[in-house]
Amino acid sequence: MDPNQNEGQGSGFVNKANNVGRLAYDNTRRFKGAYRAIKTLRITTAAGGIWWVPIIFALCFALGLTLFISMSVEGGVGGGSGVGEGGDLSSPPPSESGTTTPTCSQGNYSDCLLSQFNVTVIGTTDQTTLRLIYDALSIPMAYPLFSQRFKAARVTISINSAQTGFNGGWLVTNQAGDIAIYQKFFEAADRTKKEYLIHEAGHSVGNTNDQLQQNFYKSVYKAGLDPKCYLQGVIKTYALGLINSNTRLPNEAFAEAVADSVLCNNTGICPKNSPSGFDIPNFPSTCLSTYTWIKNNVLGG
Ligand SMILES: [Zn+2]
Repeated sequence: MDPNQNEGQGSGFVNKANNVGRLAYDNTRRFKGAYRAIKTLRITTAAGGIWWVPIIFALCFALGLTLFISMSVEGGVGGGSGVGEGGDLSSPPPSESGTTTPTCSQGNYSDCLLSQFNVTVIGTTDQTTLRLIYDALSIPMAYPLFSQRFKAARVTISINSAQTGFNGGWLVTNQAGDIAIYQKFFEAADRTKKEYLIHEAGHSVGNTNDQLQQNFYKSVYKAGLDPKCYLQGVIKTYALGLINSNTRLPNEAFAEAVADSVLCNNTGICPKNSPSGFDIPNFPSTCLSTYTWIKNNVLGG
């Protein structure tokens, strides 16, 4: 199924409206909240004239819509199926002399995520999930500048393993850099899960430093550099089938560039992250301008 078919359909609008004035990830609660707000609005205006209620409601709606627009959604109805198939990321990331991969020696991953990464995980106490998140984040967190930027975002990761994300999305990162993970994610291979988590961690940094990701996009893609690495305005390992009119291309290019830069080396294929993407051979040299920019300005080390 082409995920673009969802664009502009009625169901999409209903979901957008449900974002009114709220940042909660729980769609059910969000719907009930919006319904109650509308009901309250009707009662108060009918009861005679609390004239400012509609104005506040409208302002909340505008705020909610703005927050919705600033989210980055991964996966989607149809678009996410088969993600990770056909890719081989068994090759290690490039070894960098200035990097130190964090370790969680006591094995309490919840504590390590908080104390080392400033990450709070809510919605699970499952050690396998917590370890997976820790192990994935420890890859970009080995880079000193990334570590500094990511920790500054003070990310909350919410696990919603029994819920379907908006438009079937697997993961969402909002403007504050917080990440929500949904049901589909847990069906993926561990390798895919790690890659997606690193991509989202890239969003956490980019969304909390918008100037940084805009500068990246302007300096590399808009400048026409690395033409073999981009399609439809993003790095082509990205799930190109998910791109629609709501996709913020600089954000997706930035997050994908971070993930590919820490996961892919010069002696193999940097695999597509969805059947709708494309492999890139020898990413650091093929996408030299992208890799160098990300290394110098985002990763450090
Ligand atoms: Zn993304």
